[in-house]
Amino acid sequence: MTSRSFSSLPLDPAMQTNLDSLGYQQMTPVQAESLPVILAGQDLIAKAKTGSGKTAAFAIGLLARLQVERFRVQKLVLCPTRELADQVAREIRRLARATHNIKVLTLCGGVSIGPQIGSLEHGAHIIVGTPGRLLDHLRKQTLNLEHVDQLVLDEADRMLDMGFADDVETILAACPANRQMLLFSATYPDGIQKISARYQQSPVTVTVEEQHHPQQLVQHFYELPDAISRSEAVLRVLGQFNPALTLVFSNTRQQCQAIADDLNDQGVSALALHGDLEQKDRDRVLVRFANRSCLVLIATDVAARGLDVKELDLVINSEPSHDPEVHVHRVGRTGRAGEAGIAVTLFSAKEAGRLNRLEDYLKAPVNTESLPAFTKAYNREADMVCINIDGGKKDKLRAGDILGALTRDAGIPGSDIGKIDIFDNAAYVAVAHASARTALQQFDKGKIKGRKFRARKLARF
Ligand code: ADP
Ligand code: MG
Repeated sequence: MTSRSFSSLPLDPAMQTNLDSLGYQQMTPVQAESLPVILAGQDLIAKAKTGSGKTAAFAIGLLARLQVERFRVQKLVLCPTRELADQVAREIRRLARATHNIKVLTLCGGVSIGPQIGSLEHGAHIIVGTPGRLLDHLRKQTLNLEHVDQLVLDEADRMLDMGFADDVETILAACPANRQMLLFSATYPDGIQKISARYQQSPVTVTVEEQHHPQQLVQHFYELPDAISRSEAVLRVLGQFNPALTLVFSNTRQQCQAIADDLNDQGVSALALHGDLEQKDRDRVLVRFANRSCLVLIATDVAARGLDVKELDLVINSEPSHDPEVHVHRVGRTGRAGEAGIAVTLFSAKEAGRLNRLEDYLKAPVNTESLPAFTKAYNREADMVCINIDGGKKDKLRAGDILGALTRDAGIPGSDIGKIDIFDNAAYVAVAHASARTALQQFDKGKIKGRKFRARKLARF
């Protein structure tokens, strides 16, 4: 049992008093679990949801190990957006009130770089910044990271979502190898595991779950009457559950495309993903489902492998898989953290034998139901619009450039920008509906790196 009292930590009395004055009476769970690790100098991976007090967890850890008399950049915090960097810097400054003369500097895009260079010449202890601008300073050699002994990646998953993986790696490589590295993230996708494996040394993992119940899965097996097509049944199931994000599995490419076409005919924005598509089109479909500009995806098993989306609300098997193991794998993709996922399997009388095999495999009965009657039409629309830019890595286009054009040049709030994906010759950015026009106008009129790029909004299907 870890103590929740700040006084159980080896913090100096001034810090304890300051915490009291801020009304921080006891540690939040993520602070109680991670602060002892941080203070001991170990590398850390902390997973906890928003609002759990992660900022103070690392801020207290950085301040406790800061040497004020050494006026050098000792601590570096990377954040995905300028808004978040500002919030983090504010929290660090509040917590630093107890000690005189601690200099915290934010380095983000959206403002001219000149004054930042001036501030850097005056020196700072703690730098909080976004990857794009930090990289600019490294290139200009206006930022020296040689003395960094603690490094924080805050909201690491969002940082990777925004396309900053390469920039983050370049910045990590510019810091000393033996520094402590703290990684904070709400989720733990493959990209983060890679960065951790490369840059951390025996990290301690701290996971704070809000929900203590194991995630459950609700499965329905609906028998398909002869008179009803699979596409019609899929539409009915969508209307019944009204899911935010759905993956429909098909056993064949033909059926996959047919269901997508039928759904589109009914006005549902759905995309098909299967092996008959060219690589470039497959990439695009994966991007659109992952960036939430398309909410229904119909896929074959092979094609769905490239999909890094684990938080599906609903999985629909348009017909049962022949292989029970594949079935289990398919339905295991649904369910958000702590919430029950729903999996619906449609089967015709002829396909009932596959359910028997599933029962044998699961050693549990499969309860079949008749297909529910039509309740209401599925009419959910994505909140995000996907914009395709006709330039990519080969044009030296970086996520920071696109983000800068949209937030700094066009004045779109960072919260309206979603995932940014950059390929060799193309880039995609998800933008909230309300800001889509402004974004397109910006690409139309403005330049990125002195060059015009053509951009267009991708159609709903
Ligand atoms: P996260 O980064 O995990 O999303 P924040 O670090 O932004 O969360 O913290 C959320 C809020 O909780 C902030 O307003 C912060 O001031 C407050 N907070 C953090 N630690 C404590 C604490 N120990 N006691 C009370 N409030 C806290
Ligand atoms: Mg945070």
